[in-house]
This record gives sequence, structure tokens and C-alpha cells, in this order.
Amino acid sequence: MISSDLFERAKKLIPGGVNSPVRAFRSVGGAPFFVKAAHGATLTTADDRELIDFVCTWGPAIHGHNHPVIRDAIAAALNNGTSFGTPNPYEVEMAELITTYVPSIEKVRMCNSGTEATMSAIRLARGFTGRDKIIKFAGCYHGHSDSLLIKAGSGALTHGHPDSAGVPASFAQETIVLPFNDRDALTAAFSANPDAIAGVILEPYPANVGLIRPDEGYLRFLRELTAQHGTVLIFDEVMTGFRLAKGGVQEIEAITPDLTTLGKIIGGGLPVGAFGGRADIMDRLAPEGPVYQAGTLSGNPLAMAAGIAALKLLADDEAYARLARLGAQVQSAVAGALAAKGIAAQVPQTGSMWCTYFTDQPVRDLTTAQTTDAELFARYFRGCLDQGVYLPPSAYEACFISTAHEGAVIDKACEIMTDVIKTL
Ligand code: PMP
Repeated sequence: MISSDLFERAKKLIPGGVNSPVRAFRSVGGAPFFVKAAHGATLTTADDRELIDFVCTWGPAIHGHNHPVIRDAIAAALNNGTSFGTPNPYEVEMAELITTYVPSIEKVRMCNSGTEATMSAIRLARGFTGRDKIIKFAGCYHGHSDSLLIKAGSGALTHGHPDSAGVPASFAQETIVLPFNDRDALTAAFSANPDAIAGVILEPYPANVGLIRPDEGYLRFLRELTAQHGTVLIFDEVMTGFRLAKGGVQEIEAITPDLTTLGKIIGGGLPVGAFGGRADIMDRLAPEGPVYQAGTLSGNPLAMAAGIAALKLLADDEAYARLARLGAQVQSAVAGALAAKGIAAQVPQTGSMWCTYFTDQPVRDLTTAQTTDAELFARYFRGCLDQGVYLPPSAYEACFISTAHEGAVIDKACEIMTDVIKTL
């Protein structure tokens, strides 16, 4: 087994054998597989297994892996060099695309990861308002910067470290953590901290704790409350941006945040992040203003070329209709199989994202998400993997579908998932 050999070698030199914790499969058991190639909806492991992939590199691969148009765009850019350390033409085109598709973004700054995007957006909110405190929501994950790694979702939650060691208590004090979907908690936090809250950051559809939808009117309430208090509203759409609609959740829910963070899809599979929003706020960034933010590789031509190609493939909205059909197909197959088997479960799905909670409780926040039976999820995960379907290796991660899953692949995946459910 080549994967197990690679993992043994990796464990000697890389903490846990991985460069990002969820990849270690700790919460689902077993050793991770290594991937040597990926095409369309399929991963080819180092052991020559073919897996139908519903992780899609944690979101970016909305067109499937190694899409020819994106690959050609990278190849064309590569002919001219890999990094210049000066402005390049791709950056302008990227900014034009993002600001066209996401109207709340009047100005945008590129960076290299979602973590950088949210970290910088928080600093900007603080610099703009002259206030220190921020509000985040339990179970939302915004990357691994100090202010945000508090009651976090994703791998931090999966591995039992939602509050990371190494974050000074004095930093953590500036972050107020509230339950999602709780209006009273928000009102109380604003009353208790008058003129002190710089920003509120949220995943408008929290998807690092499975997949949660805001209650009717909750996002509007949040928008009104933040506007009233002069607090910067930051939508973290690193995951949902360009995944659910070109304009993200803010388009679907018709809410205009002050700042938005992006990543994943806008890099076409290369490392990218971005943050943008109101011009008066963005103009507080250096060199226009006093809030410092920079990056040696920011606006990298290869990443920009890949991202521009990925975004252009989404231009006519046709992909979103196709993806939503695939999402609905999976939802009804999985939910139907669970109901037939008599397993209490929730299968929330929106567009090309879904998750499976093994609980009888409707999930609307971290507390209800944690009623999921993680052990049963682990058996489901392993059963699917044994049969050739790769789901995210955590009870708290959303699954992603690409346009490359269309047709026989999605039918086969649904058959496998429903067969596995019968064995649970
Ligand atoms: N915000 C959200 C909503 C995310 O889902 C993620 C990553 N999954 C991040 C921020 C951090 O992005 P990155 O891993 O690129 O740093």
C-alpha cells in the first residue's frame, strides 16, 4: 500500500503526517489516503483506487478537478512567468469580475488564503471604526488567525480544539462568541458593549459545522443592528462565494454586508483569498490609509489566471441550475435511504452543498449540530469510502458537488451512499 508507506514517512517529518489537520482522518478512524491525480469528479489515490470525490478540495473544484479551461489558462499564464512582484494585468481583470458579480464589493484586495482574507477584514474593521471588539458565532470557522480561532468550526471542532492553545487570553477577550440564530444574544451583546464592537463576522450559511441556514429574517436583523451601531458587517463567503450563486449568499438573501471575504473558487484550485466591500472602508487600507496589509505573492498571475477562468465558466448561471439539480438528487437519495432505514437524521442541502447530521433534532446552531452521532457518521464515512465514495472526513464538514459529477457519476454515488446506509 503506497498510501500507508507515504503516511509512515510523512508522520516522521510532518506533524500528524499532514499539512492540514482534518486530512489525518483522526475523527473517522483509519489512515488517510494520498492522492496522485484528480480529474473531473474522481480522485486517483497513490494506491490506484478511483474515488468519487465530494470534498472537491474543500470547495474550490466547482467545475471538477483539472478542468481543461482552467488548466489551459494556467498554462498560458505560466508561459510568461510565475510571479512578478509588481502589479499584473490579471489582477485588474479579477477585480473587475469580483466587483461585477458581487455588487457590495466596490473595491477588493487579493491575498493568498481565506485565513488571510478574514484576518485582514477584521483588522480593517478595527482600523476603520477605531474599536477593538468583534463578534463571531459559535461553530463558524474563519481560518486560523488568533482573533477568530475561538469556538471555531471545521477541523478545530472536529479535533476538539475549538479554542486553540497559543491564542493569548488578552486577544480572546476581544472576541465575543454568540450562538448563531439567536437575536436576543446579539441585542444583549450590543447593549453590553456600547460603541465597542468593530465588526460582526459570520458565515451567512454556516458550513463548517455541517450546514446551517439562518432563520427567516435573522440576517436582515443582523444587518439592521450592525448599521444602527456603526459596526462593520463582514460576510465570510470564502466557502459560499461563487458556490451557491455568483453573488454568494448575499445575493440569495438580498443582504448587503459592508465587507465580504472570498477564497476557494476564486482561485480555481490555486492558493487565493480576497476581501472587499465598501470603498470608504477599503480605502483605509495601505497605501491609501493606515491599516497595513500586504503579500509577496498576492495577486499571483497563475492564481489569478486560474481564478478568472473558473469565474468565467460560471458567468451565465447555467452551472448553478445544474449543480442545484445534483444537490437535490443527492439530498432525496440520502434522506430517503435514512428514512427507509429508520435512522433519525437531518440532511440539509442548498445548491451543491449538503451534509448529513445523525440526529432527530433540527440543526440551527452549534449546540444542536453537536447532537449528531459522530460515531455513526464515522461508520457511514468508512462504508462510503470502502465502496468508492469520498465524503469529508468529519461529521462537521459540508459535502461539495461539482458540475463534473453530472450523469452516471452522481447516479453511482447515490446508489453507493444508499447501499451503505442500509448497512448502518
Ligand atoms: N472562512 C471559511 C468560511 C472557510 O470555510 C475557510 C476554510 N475552509 C476559511 C475561512 C479559511 O480559508 P483557508 O483555509 O483558505 O485559509
